Amino acid sequence: MASHAQDRIDPWGSVCIDDLEKLYTRFGIERITPSIKKEFSGNPFFSRNIVIGHRDLSTLIRAKKRGKPFYCMTGIASSGLFHLGHKVVIDLVLSLKEYGARVFFAVADIDAYVSRPDKKVPSIQKAKEYAIENLAHALALGVDERDVYVQSRMPSRYYEFAFELSKKMTENEYKAIYGHLDPGKMSAVILQIADILHPQLEEFGEPMPGIVPVGPDQDPHIRFSRDIAKRFRNRYGFFAPGGLYLLHMPALRSGDKMSSSKPETAVFLNDTSSEAARKISNAITGGRKTLKEQKEKGGEPDKCRVWALLRYTLESDSQLLEIREKCLSGGIMCGECKRLASERVGAFLDEHHKRLEKTRKKAEKMVLG
Ligand code: SF4
Repeated sequence: MASHAQDRIDPWGSVCIDDLEKLYTRFGIERITPSIKKEFSGNPFFSRNIVIGHRDLSTLIRAKKRGKPFYCMTGIASSGLFHLGHKVVIDLVLSLKEYGARVFFAVADIDAYVSRPDKKVPSIQKAKEYAIENLAHALALGVDERDVYVQSRMPSRYYEFAFELSKKMTENEYKAIYGHLDPGKMSAVILQIADILHPQLEEFGEPMPGIVPVGPDQDPHIRFSRDIAKRFRNRYGFFAPGGLYLLHMPALRSGDKMSSSKPETAVFLNDTSSEAARKISNAITGGRKTLKEQKEKGGEPDKCRVWALLRYTLESDSQLLEIREKCLSGGIMCGECKRLASERVGAFLDEHHKRLEKTRKKAEKMVLG
């Protein structure tokens, strides 16, 4: 377990983990092998290297091959507005459901309130407002309401279990993993681990392999929950939950990932198509200083936020590759790419807003009762 500040990943930080090699060598995240890609062939998250690592995915694949149950746990922290980066996680979860996973989708209203500063989430009521808003988006994106639970409305058994887990955690572990002992964040961690493990209790599911799709910055929660699962194996027969790590969708402008607190870096799912088009037109590209230079040298897609957006949103792998090749050879200019990305995102937003009209009422009822 990492114990020095430079060896720690901060799950509440706002930067991407860009040194992927360190994730594999120092933190022990496993690479996505060709055989895993083959197992998930047709899934763009794997073919486009958006999923960049895992812990224990092989246990889940084995369960699938033997016809045994397995689950995927995820959730939304109701602490800010929903943007395209959040959509990526939901799309990945839906693809895992298609693969056969039972989905447990947490609306983490209590977690969001206790772990965020007051200036961000000043009250439980505000956390519930965000929860309604974000759940409405999740339902409109295709999350099945039967897979959803709201933390604040969970039965007492869930909270009893969370407190039971806390008894097997130590102060030193918190310090080693997170570097500090903030009571709000400690409570949030206890709830997160209860979220990750409760599908294996008989009251909610059964002991089975599970996977939690997260950004690599959330790995401390995964490592901690795996340790705790082992401590409760004799009592509950728990499998250590696995992790599936995906790259965050990069910010359109400065910064590493889309962030609710920096509106110009992200396309929010409430944005109109024209707002989205304006943000995309201001995005950082990998284009050259002049059109002439770009035609001669080609662009630099790996530095380009528009390319990144297309990588996460275009449906066709072949169209995506064609754009990349054209960019590298100077056969396409940035204006054309931006237009394509704006049309693509705009069409999605228009459809999404229609679906949202139907899901808002449902989300309100699910959060408030
Ligand atoms: Fe990015 Fe497209 Fe410009 Fe290439 S041509 S740098 S992919 S915007």
